Amino acid sequence: MTQEEVKRIIRDVPDFPKKGILFKDLTTAFINPGCMHWFEQELTDAYKDKGITKVLGIESRGFVVAPIVANNMNVGFVPVRKKGKLPAEVVEQSYDKEYGTDTIEVHKDSLTADDVVMIHDDLLATGGTMAAAVELVRKFGVKKIYVSFLVELDELNGRRAFADDVEVLSLIHY
Ligand code: AMP
Repeated sequence: MTQEEVKRIIRDVPDFPKKGILFKDLTTAFINPGCMHWFEQELTDAYKDKGITKVLGIESRGFVVAPIVANNMNVGFVPVRKKGKLPAEVVEQSYDKEYGTDTIEVHKDSLTADDVVMIHDDLLATGGTMAAAVELVRKFGVKKIYVSFLVELDELNGRRAFADDVEVLSLIHY
């Protein structure tokens, strides 16, 4: 499988979840073992020599590939969840959405200052969600933060949401 082949397999759904949004539907890639192997291999190759100690995935589409990459690197997976879903003590971060605010959480005992972290989500649009995840992880004083996406929508310039010390990788660009 090549990058161009994977790119063609990702489905465009116009006007979802509302009019004017061209939704990049990754389920057509997740159902295809060739695409899944490509995602997993590209990300594992990119991060295996970076000294990563934890991989975080953002609920819910970030949960598909991140645990596989964590497993390949023999490190732990940490779920970043919407408010109220995690049962034990949490650290939280709120962020502005188009309408109102949202809050994401991780378990307080899931990270330490010694960690080198890769945070993964399926898609970079405006960057609001991942920027909040980065701020959340900074509260633990970790050594280094990497962020990765399967897809980046270049025209939205979501990369601007990240400070220079955060390294950003997207496998596919539109
Ligand atoms: P953002 O915070 O704007 O970067 O939005 C990122 C989140 O919204 C990701 O978790 C995506 O799953 C989802 N998302 C935003 N825009 C799109 C789009 N055009 N197609 C598919 N998913 C999207």
